[in-house]
Amino acid sequence: MNPDNRKDWDTYFMDIAYMVSTRSRCNRRHVGAVLVQGKKLLGTAYNGAPSGVPDCSEAGCMIAEEYELVIENGQEKMVKKQRCVRTIHAEQNLLLFTDRIDREGSSVYVTDEPCWTCANMLANSGITEIVFHRSYPKDTGKVTAMMAQKGITFRRLEGYHPPQETIAQVEE
Ligand SMILES: [Zn+2]
Ligand SMILES: [Zn+2]
Repeated sequence: MNPDNRKDWDTYFMDIAYMVSTRSRCNRRHVGAVLVQGKKLLGTAYNGAPSGVPDCSEAGCMIAEEYELVIENGQEKMVKKQRCVRTIHAEQNLLLFTDRIDREGSSVYVTDEPCWTCANMLANSGITEIVFHRSYPKDTGKVTAMMAQKGITFRRLEGYHPPQETIAQVEE
């Protein structure tokens, strides 16, 4: 802790991302993301249905199952994944509500490690750094490899504790 109890910038922006995530109404996951250029906050977003249509708390999650072919120790296997497809993910909303010119060379702070689709979009969005807190093991291998190929700094905030009041009870 700093002598004057000031938050460092990583904590500052991740706290804001968690605060933003409390707006989410998906029962499966509350995700918040913020766009930061230098020390300047340029946008905030959370996962949710498009504005004006019923969200997960009103209409229930829209669960889709998909299978992905994964090669593990030379063996092919199909891995089943379940996700809520009603919502636009926080990272995608962040791209919808910010300008390309603002994103060039900027950072994204996001409460959860991006899924493959979001990572793919972020990689092509102009941003050069992604900082996340909670891990998303399902996609972490391929996302980490792609970020390395793109030269995007991709790091987990270790030892970080979100503000208690921002943690939602969600179904697993
Ligand atoms: Zn949902
Ligand atoms: Zn995503």
